[in-house]
Amino acid sequence: MRSWLECIRGCGKRYPIDQIIYRCETCGALLDVQHDVKILKRRSAASWKKLFDERTRTNVWPYASGVWGKKEWVAPGLKNENIVSMYEGHTNCFWAERLGKQLGVPDLWVKLCGNSHTGSFKDLGMTVLVSVVKQMIAEGKPIRAVACASTGDTSAALAAYGAAAGIPTIVFLPRGKVSTAQLVQPIANGATVLSLDTDFDGCMRIVQEITADNTIYLANSMNSLRMEGQKTVGIEIIQQFDWEIPDWFIIPAGNLGNVSALGKGLLLMRELGLIKKLPRIICAQAANANPLYLSFQNNYKSYTAVQAQKTLASAIQIGAPVSYERAVKVLKEFDGIVEQATENELANAAAQADRAGLFTCPQTGVALAALFKLKERGVIKKKDRVVVISTAHGLKFSQFKVDYHEKTLADVVPAFPNSPIYLPATTDAVRRKLDEILK
Ligand SMILES: *Cc1c(COP(=O)(O)O)cnc(C)c1O
Ligand SMILES: [Zn+2]
Repeated sequence: MRSWLECIRGCGKRYPIDQIIYRCETCGALLDVQHDVKILKRRSAASWKKLFDERTRTNVWPYASGVWGKKEWVAPGLKNENIVSMYEGHTNCFWAERLGKQLGVPDLWVKLCGNSHTGSFKDLGMTVLVSVVKQMIAEGKPIRAVACASTGDTSAALAAYGAAAGIPTIVFLPRGKVSTAQLVQPIANGATVLSLDTDFDGCMRIVQEITADNTIYLANSMNSLRMEGQKTVGIEIIQQFDWEIPDWFIIPAGNLGNVSALGKGLLLMRELGLIKKLPRIICAQAANANPLYLSFQNNYKSYTAVQAQKTLASAIQIGAPVSYERAVKVLKEFDGIVEQATENELANAAAQADRAGLFTCPQTGVALAALFKLKERGVIKKKDRVVVISTAHGLKFSQFKVDYHEKTLADVVPAFPNSPIYLPATTDAVRRKLDEILK
């Protein structure tokens, strides 16, 4: 057996990789995919690097995908004919030179995970999950549909990959709490879209009950298959730096699957000798949905789910994160920090980044605000190499930007507003105005 599911709480219980099961039967904890590292160690670190680099430069299906280029580390038992890929990954790691100079962190990079088929990092995980489901169906498992609860981006990814594979999808969305772009994506891709009068946590409770019937497969991040795809992001960033590790990763966090996946990929790299030490990880939460931040304040000794309040960073408006346990393990291992950002801080951080050429979503605004604060406090130093993980494309959140620049956002005092100038259609009026502006 090259891979299996294993209880994350360390009770030792293992399950076959293709069993439809999301929690340990003995202790109720989540499960993680584990790979037989002995097999992976047969190849040297140098040889892994060479293999990954070679695939990156080719166009050979499916290995040119950032996820499937690392297939042996992700889902070695999957048949290539069942892979549903849209060439996810290999997104630009943007050198934020101007923004970095303004902050006094010149070695600042933003990994643009939103430059992907459905506009968010969720594609990295969904390609794995939908591929595995395709294989299960091919092998005769009676799966009628795949379902998820979502703050918007998971449902967009599930609907697109499901449509590409011809697998029916059902998405549970909190009514009025996702952007128009996020709502229209699953609609366009033909998913059954259920808009419920509740928040994400409420949708999550219902989808878990519905999928207790194993003919509807659960695609939320408690499903460890998605983590396997998402864990490639850190590996890919280090590859983009010619296998050098940055000092810091900063990642916005809601359900805490992505930060757990980031850590998982980096730990595997270290185990296989591709890196010698670990970077530090900063988790960034919206102050209005901050259960991990509160737990970090007392060194994770206690944890209580919160009622998430409305936040512009709607993709992380989660009060009861499903992967809390996984994330804490990762943060302890990586000498992690949890920081939070208010609405005002996240909106202004996003706008300042946009002024330097980015086009950030509000979740990335949360991560950038965390960077600003930790630099200010002297935790992040001038010489440090910092990588901010940008989780979605700003175009998914255009209303957030319109409202910012029109100064209509609650709890936000825009420091960088830029409104259109309305003029009569005469050369004279235009010239006068430009002379005034350009001086
Ligand atoms: C899903 C999502 C997150 C949060 O990821 P988790 O794994 O839930 O912590 C952050 N930003 C965006 C844009 C997302 O779609
Ligand atoms: Zn267990």
